[in-house]
Amino acid sequence: MRLLIIGNGITGVTAALTVRRLQPDAQITLVSEESAHHYSRTALMYVYLGHMRYQDIKPYEDWFWAENRLELVEATATRLDTTSQLVTLSNGQQLGYDKLLLATGSVSRLADWPGQNLAGVQGLYGLPDLARMERDTHGIRQAVVVGGGLIGVELAEMLHSRGIEATVLVRDSHYWGSVLPAAEARLVDQQFEEHHVAVRYRTELAEILSDDQGRVRAVRTTAGEELPCQWLGLATGVTPNLTLVQGTAVETDRGILVDEHLQTSVPHVYAAGDCAQHRQPGQGEVPIEQLWYTGRMQGETVAHTICGKPTAYRRGIWFNSAKFFALEYQTYGRVPAQPEAGIDSFYWEHPGGRLALRINFSSMPGFAVTGFNALGLRLRHEICAQWIGTQTPIREVMAQLGAANFDPEFYRQYEPEMIRQFNQQFPQHAAVLQRRKGLFSRL
Ligand SMILES: Cc1cc2nc3c(=O)[nH]c(=O)nc-3n(C[C@H](O)[C@H](O)[C@H](O)COP(=O)(O)OP(=O)(O)OC[C@H]3O[C@@H](n4cnc5c(N)ncnc54)[C@H](O)[C@@H]3O)c2cc1C
Repeated sequence: MRLLIIGNGITGVTAALTVRRLQPDAQITLVSEESAHHYSRTALMYVYLGHMRYQDIKPYEDWFWAENRLELVEATATRLDTTSQLVTLSNGQQLGYDKLLLATGSVSRLADWPGQNLAGVQGLYGLPDLARMERDTHGIRQAVVVGGGLIGVELAEMLHSRGIEATVLVRDSHYWGSVLPAAEARLVDQQFEEHHVAVRYRTELAEILSDDQGRVRAVRTTAGEELPCQWLGLATGVTPNLTLVQGTAVETDRGILVDEHLQTSVPHVYAAGDCAQHRQPGQGEVPIEQLWYTGRMQGETVAHTICGKPTAYRRGIWFNSAKFFALEYQTYGRVPAQPEAGIDSFYWEHPGGRLALRINFSSMPGFAVTGFNALGLRLRHEICAQWIGTQTPIREVMAQLGAANFDPEFYRQYEPEMIRQFNQQFPQHAAVLQRRKGLFSRL
């Protein structure tokens, strides 16, 4: 079998490695325009921060690919002919395939702001962006970042590390308003303050102003404020990269449409990772998943189908993690930004503002836990997923909280206080919890 994979990100590479394992004699070619070798996109910021070098964020040595008979081609796939099963590359080469995997990832999503093509204005998605940022932020004093999401806070931290005064524009009334409840967002806000990053909430970008050399010199916000800046980071999300499939028989919507086997509308053509849109996502799942671990899961799943073992993609319990400056964040299951009907929410926060735990659970008899948010503490993935998956009642979860934490000391120190607050917030569950009093007295 000749397998051609477009994209050497986590999705394409996981699929390649899985196919190599399942079908040792497959001929596998990976095409990528961005880099000769696979690297961890999630670690891009650490290169700018100076914590790692580019070679440190490559999970495999350069010899690994030849050793595993994975052919790498550094070029752009410019044309796809699904009838003759041929892909044309920017270097003029044509590659035939028996099976084709589209793992083309995302591109930064930009609105149509006046001035967005000025020098010093950019998003952060890949290595070329990192190189531009390195060059264009050198020696500058002020920068603006648009976007109150994960990449927005990463850009702010990167700028802060170089002593550049950063202002972040956030459309919502609090940080990551579409995802984080206000209480958790307040802790992130505290991180911005401690790192001297200014934030303008309920504020959007209106116009980007140029100097006489075509470089950004300031932005005007929707609040009418003019903020001087020599660099502007646009972190307003990403959208599936559809360039190669445009004008082909491969059906698209916002992403490349795939069924549960990650098969596109065209035989022998598959799509997975950031670029794919599930026609029928599972219950509680979203059609487009733009995460590292879901790319890896989809890459592994599609490899089985490609090798003749049709396997349906099921993500399982939602999980995500991030870091807001010094504050670690993990989420499991469903924890929406706004309170939900039929769901109760227990929230504990340490007075120091660096630790918080939220546990959502059904307010209906059974009182099954539905989601966790953790800030400043690390929960065990498998335990949280199991509790949510088996609809464990909140009182059992509270009684065993320590099992979910990596650091038993942490729970010895804070669990009694969490239980006290839980009992205060939810006295109807308190009787069960009080039975554990004897256990705490031993701590
Ligand atoms: C700065 C940053 C930080 C992130 N941090 C996190 C995080 O902490 N946690 C998390 O879960 N997720 C994070 N993400 C998201 C995560 O990195 C992506 O979900 C994941 O990398 C997607 O993997 P992928 O293989 O589907 O696509 P990609 O990694 O985008 O790989 C696709 C590759 O295909 C190439 N390509 C596209 N079209 C062509 C073509 N026509 N010809 C040749 N090559 C082509 C692209 O250049 C790219 O190299 C982050 C993303 C960014 C940008």
